[in-house]
Formats: sequence, C-alpha cells, structure tokens
Amino acid sequence: MSFLVTIGLEVHCQVKTNTKMFCACETSFADEPNTHTCPVCLGLPGALPVLNRHAIEKTLLAGLQLDCGSPEVSKWDRKNYFYPDMPKNYQTTQLDLPLCLGGEVPVYDFNYPTEVKKNIPRPGLKVRLNRIHLEEDVAKSTHLGSSSIIDYNRAGTPLMEIVTEPDIESSAEAFAFLRSLQMILQQAGVSDADMEKGQLRCDVNISIRRRESDPYGNRIELKNLNSISAVRRAIDYEIERQSEDLEAGVEQIQSTRRWDDDRGESQLLRTKEDAHDYRYFPCPDLLPIHTGPLLDAVRPLTTERPHDRAERYENDYRITAYDASVLASDVPLATYFETLAANEKVPGKKAANFLLNVLLGLLNERETAIDASPVSAEKTGSLLELVESGQLALNQAKEVLLKLLEEPGRDPAEVAKAMGFEPADAGELEAFCDQAIEANPKQVAEIQSGNEKLVNFLTGQVMKLSKGKANPKQVTEILRSKLL
Ligand SMILES: [Zn+2]
Repeated sequence: MSFLVTIGLEVHCQVKTNTKMFCACETSFADEPNTHTCPVCLGLPGALPVLNRHAIEKTLLAGLQLDCGSPEVSKWDRKNYFYPDMPKNYQTTQLDLPLCLGGEVPVYDFNYPTEVKKNIPRPGLKVRLNRIHLEEDVAKSTHLGSSSIIDYNRAGTPLMEIVTEPDIESSAEAFAFLRSLQMILQQAGVSDADMEKGQLRCDVNISIRRRESDPYGNRIELKNLNSISAVRRAIDYEIERQSEDLEAGVEQIQSTRRWDDDRGESQLLRTKEDAHDYRYFPCPDLLPIHTGPLLDAVRPLTTERPHDRAERYENDYRITAYDASVLASDVPLATYFETLAANEKVPGKKAANFLLNVLLGLLNERETAIDASPVSAEKTGSLLELVESGQLALNQAKEVLLKLLEEPGRDPAEVAKAMGFEPADAGELEAFCDQAIEANPKQVAEIQSGNEKLVNFLTGQVMKLSKGKANPKQVTEILRSKLL
C-alpha cells in the first residue's frame, strides 16, 4: 500500500562573495588547506567579527528573487556546540529574526527527472519557503580511520540556509525543486550553487502517514546529502524504510539519520532524546540590521527570473509554456533566442522550434554550448528567412545549417545555392508534377473527390523525382493548381 509522504528541505547555499562572513579572508575552493585563515575565522580568543555587507545584500537579493519578505530588524544569534569544525564553540547564525521570511520557489516542469516528465503529478508546483537566514559555514573535516583532518579555509564562508515548508511529496519533486532553486540563485548571481564544490548542500525532513486525516508521522531528518541525485536516492530509500516499518506497526522515533550514498542506505545518528541543546542567545558582538535601507539598495539589482522570462516568451512569441520555460531556463540560450526572434521575418514559434529541435541537437552532438555556437543567431535568422520565403524546405535548411557549422564564415543563401537548393525552374517542376499525376491515377481520383490530404503524397513523389532539390511548398502549390 502506498502512504502519504511529507517532505521539507533545509538547503545550505554558499553566498558568492570574495571574502568570508566576518573577516577579510578570501573565500576559496580547493586551495592548499588552512591558507585562508585569521584569528577571527580560527576563533582565537579576543578576535571580533566584522560583517560582510555583500553577503547580507546577496541574501536579501535572494529573498527578493524568491518573493520573500524581510523583518524590519534582523539580528544575529549564537548557536553553541563543541565540535572541531567550529573552533569558537558557537556558530554565528540567525534564530528568530532572519533576513528573509516566507516566499516561494516555482518548480519548473522541465527540471523533473526524465522518466517523470511525461506524467508530472503536480505540474506548476510552487513550494513555499519558511525563511532564509544567513550564517557562517564550518570548516571541512575529513575522517581517516581513527583520526580526522580539518581545513579551515571553508570556516566562516557566508552560508544562506533556505528552509521550505513541508510542501514536497516525492523524491522527484525534491529533485526538480532543487534544480529550479539552483537555477534561480545562479541566474541572480547570488551563488554558484555548485553541488560538486559543496556550495549547495541539503538536509531532508521526511515523514509518512496512511491518510490525509492522520496526524503527521514522526519526522526523520536525513543529513549529508551532497548531490541532487543523492537527495533523490535518499528520499526513495527512506520512504521505503518507513513504509515497511509502518506496515509492520513500528512507529518512527523522531531522529536524525546519516545518508551513506556509497552503500545506498541511511544510518541512525541520534534520536530526539540525545538532541543537542544549542542554548541560543543573541550575539553580543554584532548589532542588529535595519533591513529597509539595504533592501532599497538591492532592489535595482533584481533580475528577470526564469519563470517571468518564460511567461514573457509565451505571450510575445506565442510558443508553448514548456518550450518557453526551456528557452528561459538558461541565460545564453535565452539571449540567442531573443536575438533570433528579433528577426521580424521569422515567426517566434518557428524560431523556437528550429532552435530547440535542430540547432541545439547539432550543438550537443559537437559538445558545444549555445554561446559558443559557430553559427550566430543573426545567421540562423537569415537561414530561417529562406524557409519563410519558400526558398528552402525545413529539412534542406537543416542541411545548410550543418554546412554552416563547418564553415561559419559563409552566407546561408550562398550555401543553399551551392548545395543546389534553389527554387527550381518552374517548367522543370511542372514536368515533374505532370509525371507524378500521370503515374498515380488512383490517388489523383481520390484527391479530386475531396481527399486533399493526398496532395502531400504526390508532393513526396515529385520531391523524389527532383532528387530532394525541389521546394515542397512550391511543389504543393503547383499540384493544387493542377488538381483542385
Ligand atoms: Zn579569517
């Protein structure tokens, strides 16, 4: 039997700044360990923090991009615990007055795993956010048998914690949510959100119950999820584990489990009974922040979000919502599309189709990104103009494009001509049409008795006679004028 699944995520995301949260040490990745440290980020006695304005502004910017509000005053708190990754013995974070409150993340349908895309249970899903607070990242520890090595380069890196409401119901939704959030943060320039570099990490809270009317099951927190696909695997495992327990009448104890991605299983870390008491209290070293003036400074820096851009494309170019969202998902792709669609002789819908179904495929085969395309958007536009004016058929345009990818300096019309794709001599085409009509009396009779669709069949015959060089649009016109 299947159960109702309730999932909330806590996403930790490194803010893109040059220096750390409370000191002037450089933020770095993969540099020689312990080379970016100072008394502040090493927690030496007497060292005092200095706020990084950029980290606060970027967190507020993330909040604006995600429709969050902000309390008038935001403050800093100490979360006390003893662990080598935080030598001060407390983490500076925000408890009750975070920088951002509320908000939501639109989950883009194209971000679902491929096998789910055809049958998305809740298309257009929006996941509500509870809050975004800013804190400092801890050092990176690596455990080697009985000893651990520790790198303080990461200690003190600004870290946003984005907390969702429990609005997610499956591993596929969590997957698509994280990809959509990553996209929005990256495009806003708030974070590089690279999971490989540990810039985006995630804890999952998950519970299951039999039916809507039942109270929520006890919450299990999963930690140590280092990739979006690991999040998916961990959730699937956990749903299965908890379902088996529920069926056997075993109740979950509220607890924290660690995901082991190599073994594909979660292991108990601690239960509610031995949970930490962090003894939060307001940080005496840092003044509260008045968010108003900072928000005023940040508001002009907001950028068009992928879903706003998609909506604009849908309205301006009359393309499908799905195509619009794919085109809008990536800034270089969006830029290419807009340049292409700026060609007034080419309808936006046709530009979108050609870009998504032809050019992107050819570029993928060559492992070339759209912003490195040898064929510029302007040139693709000229090529599509030839299709619009009836000088080229679509499949011929594809062949011309292939040639242009090899020799990008050439002009589309000139390449088309050199390849023999030019409007055939009208007399020759008429002869081919007559030939096709004569050879297919049965089809001709059907066309003349009203089955006009069969004209396409005759067009195909003429195309064969012309060895693919004729223009199908032109051929169809001649055939219609002869038969109808
Ligand atoms: Zn430092």
